Amino acid sequence: MMFKKSEKLYKKGLKNLVGAVNSPVRAFSSVGGNPLFIKKAKGTKITDVDGNEYVDLVLSYGPMILGHRHKKVQKGVDKALKNGYSFGASTEAEIKLAKIVCDAFPGIDKVRFVNSGTEAVLSAVRLARAFTGKDKIIKFSGCYHGHQDSLLVAAGSGLATLSMPGSKGVPEGAVKNTLIAEYNNLESVKAHFEKYDDIAGVIIEPICGNMGVAIPQNGFLVELKKYLESKNALLIADEVMTGFRSKFGGAQELLGITADITCLGKVIGGGFPVGAYGAREEIMQEVAPLGGMYQAGTLSGNPIAMAGGIATLTELKKQNPYKKFEETGSILEVILLETAKKYNVDLVVNRFGSMLNPFFTNVEVTNFEKAQTSDTEKFAVFFWEMIKNGVFLPPSQFEAWFLSSALNDKDIQKIANAVDKAMEKVSTI
Ligand code: PMP
Repeated sequence: MMFKKSEKLYKKGLKNLVGAVNSPVRAFSSVGGNPLFIKKAKGTKITDVDGNEYVDLVLSYGPMILGHRHKKVQKGVDKALKNGYSFGASTEAEIKLAKIVCDAFPGIDKVRFVNSGTEAVLSAVRLARAFTGKDKIIKFSGCYHGHQDSLLVAAGSGLATLSMPGSKGVPEGAVKNTLIAEYNNLESVKAHFEKYDDIAGVIIEPICGNMGVAIPQNGFLVELKKYLESKNALLIADEVMTGFRSKFGGAQELLGITADITCLGKVIGGGFPVGAYGAREEIMQEVAPLGGMYQAGTLSGNPIAMAGGIATLTELKKQNPYKKFEETGSILEVILLETAKKYNVDLVVNRFGSMLNPFFTNVEVTNFEKAQTSDTEKFAVFFWEMIKNGVFLPPSQFEAWFLSSALNDKDIQKIANAVDKAMEKVSTI
């Protein structure tokens, strides 16, 4: 397999782009190499500039749930493009997408569209503070909620990959109201409430995908929600990754909880820049122009992005692929585990529906500390062997793999063959 053109573009890109990437998670630094440059994608496949084709398990870090360039989405977007790209005024498409979101999430009466997951979360945190009149927010180590200042501590995703405890340039004052708790540990949340009486709420990835996949255990979220109610604090569900992916109604539908504020992104735009936050009526009344919490956006509710979202969610609802996700996901899980056993490699696989990833460890991974026991050198070897055998994975131990509803038996066979080769190689180091 040749990466000649990617290498050439990488060198060219270094001149005017930072690390030749526009998001650090796209750098291949933690797996020891340079980023691939992508030319195109269709269905389950993605093709780089050298013409190498891969089964894509990155899926733009989640949004491409129907696979790439689904014909219904393409059609919806093509149609919208003909009417103009942005108006700075309301359109009917925003109302349509809002209805789909509100119908899917019982906890959302009203929604506000923004342009990214980061914006959704930073607005949701502001809203929680506005509604409760309190300042402190609890987050869990290993969860990632975008790159707003106040939540860039003990974060997963790219920061975990690059072993960064936080970010330079974040003033102390910006994080002084951020408290850290341990995922799956309610006592660590209670300890903060015993110490402080000005906690507005808790933000959580209800199924975590940013330390790799970590799953809430033994009714953790149900207990957390109950506890927060007793403390008059809000539960903010960051469903940027899980919204419309775990179930149409997100992880909340699956886990049987209703959050006070929900953050959405990724799938909701079907590959176009859309984020959203929503809540019940009394909370959303705080948002301008109805209330005193200000939040705005030049391109928010962009008609092309709305068309992408409407077409994606409409098709997703029709396909209802969640049972298939469970089946396909469990097949991949078994392939990973059995192949690891065959080659005597220590491996734990965490999976929830269509999100999964392997950890090269023998410790059950329930939180960030345990995720970090994974042997990242082994992951790097595994990653490159998967690439060489035609499977595109996130270039990090601490990112989830995603499945699309387009994934077929042939793709799974290709993944299985690649896993066999990759695991064999891992067993030699
Ligand atoms: N929250 C979660 C749970 C995420 O996974 C992400 C992105 N991976 C974000 C927020 C930030 O979204 P964006 O990258 O669109 O700003």
